[in-house]
Amino acid sequence: MTSFLSFAELCHRIEGIGGSIEKTALLASFLSELDEAELLVVPSFVMGSAFPASSEQLLGVGPSTLYDALSKATGATSQEIMDILRRTGDVGSVAAEVVGKRRPSTLSSFIENDSLSILDVYSRFLELARASGKRCQGVKMKHLRYLFGESGPLEARYIARLALDDMRIGVGEGIVRDAIAKAFNRTSEEVERGYNFTSDLGLVAQKAKAGRLSELTIEIGRPIKMMLAQLGSGIPGSMAEMGAAAVEWKYDGSRVQIHKKGDEIEIFSRRLERVTRSLPEIVGFVKENVRAESAILDGEAVARGDDGRPLPFQEILKRFRRKYKVERTAKKIPLELWLFDLVYLDGQPLIDEPLRERRRRLEEVADSKILAAQTVTSDPEKVAEIYEEAIGAGHEGVMLKSPDSPYAPGKRGKNWFKIKPVMETLDLVVIGARWGEGRRASFFGSYRLASPDPDTGRLEDVGWVATGITDEMLSELTYLFKDLVLVSGEGMEVEVKPEVIFEVAFEEIQKSTNYSSGYALRFPRLVRVRDDKALEEADSLERVSSLYATQRGRNGPSPG
Ligand code: AMP
Repeated sequence: MTSFLSFAELCHRIEGIGGSIEKTALLASFLSELDEAELLVVPSFVMGSAFPASSEQLLGVGPSTLYDALSKATGATSQEIMDILRRTGDVGSVAAEVVGKRRPSTLSSFIENDSLSILDVYSRFLELARASGKRCQGVKMKHLRYLFGESGPLEARYIARLALDDMRIGVGEGIVRDAIAKAFNRTSEEVERGYNFTSDLGLVAQKAKAGRLSELTIEIGRPIKMMLAQLGSGIPGSMAEMGAAAVEWKYDGSRVQIHKKGDEIEIFSRRLERVTRSLPEIVGFVKENVRAESAILDGEAVARGDDGRPLPFQEILKRFRRKYKVERTAKKIPLELWLFDLVYLDGQPLIDEPLRERRRRLEEVADSKILAAQTVTSDPEKVAEIYEEAIGAGHEGVMLKSPDSPYAPGKRGKNWFKIKPVMETLDLVVIGARWGEGRRASFFGSYRLASPDPDTGRLEDVGWVATGITDEMLSELTYLFKDLVLVSGEGMEVEVKPEVIFEVAFEEIQKSTNYSSGYALRFPRLVRVRDDKALEEADSLERVSSLYATQRGRNGPSPG
C-alpha cells in the first residue's frame, strides 16, 4: 500500500522543477514501485483528475463545498480561508495552511502521519462521485472532512487541488506516457498506441507493467482518440500536396464519437467525455439511421438556428454541458448529426483500412440523412466551389482527406487538411497581467486585453491571452509591464497602465457575459507587440462587433 503522503511528496518535488525530462524520471521511478490497483489511479491523479476523462464518474465538488469542508475539518473561519486564497490564489496553499494550523491543536496536526493511502483517497473520491439525491451534499461533506481530517499539510495541498481538478504541477499526457514507457521498459510509441486505443493511461500503465501492452485494442464503450486535421496551406497548395482528395464541408459544430452496441448508444465529446445524456436526439438519430450491430462512428454535431444556419460554438457547448433538464435546452438548441467516418464495425476495427473503404462501409450502414456529403476530386476549382458553398451555409470551410489514408487515432497529420478563411487579427490594449506558475512564476504569463468603446471612450475587457508568448518574450514583457503596474489586485493579478498594444489572432469572436465588452476571443494568440501603435490606434469595439457579425459568412452569401 503506497501512502498518499509519498504521492504528495512526488507532486511537490515535480512542482519545484521545470524540465520535463526530470519530471518524467521522477514519475517513472514512482510508477515502477506501484502495484496494479495503484497504477490504475496514479496517472489520472498526477494530471490533476480524480478519474480518467472518459470515465462516467464525476467528483462534483465545487470551491464552496471544498472551503466549507476545510473549515469544518480544521476550525478555520471562512474569512481566514478567503484571505489566504486572495493572498496565494491557490486552493492547495489554502488547504496546506489551514490544515497546518488546525484547531484544536494537537501534536499530530503538525506532522504528516501518512495514515492515508493512495487507494483510500481514491475510494473516498469514488464515494463522492456516487453521492446523489437529497443528502448528496452531506455525504460529500463527510468524505471531504474525513480526508482533510486525516491529512497533514502536504497531503491536504494535493487533495484540495485534485478535488478541484487544478493540480498545477505541469504534468500532462506526454510526460505520463514517457514515464510509463521508462518505468516498464517499453517504447513511448507502444504506450502511445495503447493510449490512443483506450484513452486511459491507468489501464495502459497496468498493462505495461504486466508486459501485455499489445493486448490493448479498440473496444466498444471505451473512447479512442480522434484523428485530427492539420491546417492546410490554402486550396491550391494543399491539393498539390495531396493529389486526389475526399472533400467534405468542415461543419461548424462539435466532434462526437458514437459507440453503438445493439440498442445501447454512448456518445463521447472531443475531449472524450461521456455526453450521451446531454444529446438524446443524437442517440435517436443513430438508433433510427444506423444499421449495424456494433459500430464506432465519427462525426460532427451541429446546432441549427431558426434560419437553418449553424449557431455559434458556445450555443452547442450549452448542449454538451447540460446534464439535467436536457429536454428544454434540446428544444431551444436542436442538433443535427453529420457522420464522416467509421472506425469499427461489427466486431472489426477498421482503422487500418483506407478512408475510401471506411467510407464505403459507412454508406452501407448509415442513412444518407446523417452522412456528411463527400466528393473525391483532384480539381482545385471543384474544391473552391465546395468551399464557397460551405462558407455560404455558415460553416467553417472544407476538410481535404487522403482517400488512401488509415484512421490514425490521436494524430494530427498530413492526411487530413483543414481549409478555413484566414481570420483577421485585432490590435488590443493590455490592461492587466497575471503572474505565471511553476517555471513561469516570476513572469507575467497572461495578459488582459481590452478594446476602446468609441461612444464612452472606456476600455472594455475582451479576455486574456497567454498563448504565442515565447520564453524570451516572457522576460521582456515582464520587464516592460512591471513598470506599468497600477494596482496589485486579487491573488495573482495586477492592473497595468493601458499603454501597450498587442496584435492578437484568434479562431473566433464569441458573445460573452464574462467580459465587460460583451465579447470574448476564442483561442487568442499573441502575434506581436505593436510598439509602433499608439493607444488611440487600437481596434475599437465597433470593429470587434463588426468582425463578430461577418465571421463565418453570417452576413455573407445565403446557402445554395
Ligand atoms: P480544428 O478543431 O480546427 O482542429 O478542426 C478539426 C475539427 O473539425 C474536428 O475535430 C471536427 O470537430 C471538425 N469537423 C467538422 N467537419 C469535419 C469533417 N467533415 N471531417 C473531420 N472533422 C470535421
